[in-house]
Formats: sequence, structure tokens, C-alpha cells
Amino acid sequence: VNNQTNDLKSILKSANQSLTSSRQLVFNSLKLHDPLSMSELVKLCLNEVDRATVYRVIKLYEDLGIVQRVPVGWKYKLELSEKFSHHHHHLTCLNCSKIIDITPPENIELDIMRLAKDYGFEVRSHQIEISGVCKDCVKK
Ligand SMILES: [Zn+2]
Ligand SMILES: [Zn+2]
Repeated sequence: VNNQTNDLKSILKSANQSLTSSRQLVFNSLKLHDPLSMSELVKLCLNEVDRATVYRVIKLYEDLGIVQRVPVGWKYKLELSEKFSHHHHHLTCLNCSKIIDITPPENIELDIMRLAKDYGFEVRSHQIEISGVCKDCVKK
């Protein structure tokens, strides 16, 4: 049992929930892939977990802050929250909806803190989404 599974268990436990096999499968699918749309996730899990169950698990995971949404235009994809991954930002391709994780340089992170502080604001988290056209789509 790895640390992440223990973290997942303890978050679930704090909400009086347990780690079922379908919850583990949804978690692993998100862990092993780039951000997924709901339908991509359902497809990945379909052999073992039905669609309605995947939706229920995601609802629970969003409520508990285990999963977060990555906006893609007016839709979104799903990824594990920063409790389970390092802090990163996204480049989203408007053509093929590929999402690329980028680790921001430290000065961007500090600028965000400074900017917020100018407004007397205490930052807890932030997301930065950059949209455009990826290098594969630019070539076409
Ligand atoms: Zn693309
Ligand atoms: Zn950042």
C-alpha cells in the first residue's frame, strides 16, 4: 500500500466513507493519465465499473477535494487535486483539447502571491490555464 492510497483512505474516512474497489479504480485511472473528460474516464473504467458509479465516485471526490476540474473552453476535464500531485499549470489546445502540464517558474508563483497581497488577500490556491494551439496542431 503506497502513501497516496493511505492519504486517499484517510480523506474518505474523515467523511465516513471507505475505499471500495470502484473508488480505487477511478483514482488509479486519474493518476495514470493526463486529465480526462468524464466520458474518457467512463470508457477506461467500463469493464469493471458502470457509468453511474463512476459519476457517483467523481461527485464524492470533487466534494472531498480529491479531484479538481480543468476548464477546456466551456467544458472541463478531471485530474487529481494537488493533494495528490505537485503544483502545476496547464496549456490547453483549443483544437485537439490536449492538456499539457507545465511546472511554472518560481517567479510567477511569487508574483501571484505579491499581487494578491497588494489587495490584502491571503492566497490558498490558484489555477492558471493557458489556451492556444499545440505544436502538433500548429503543423496541420
Ligand atoms: Zn492540439
Ligand atoms: Zn502556480
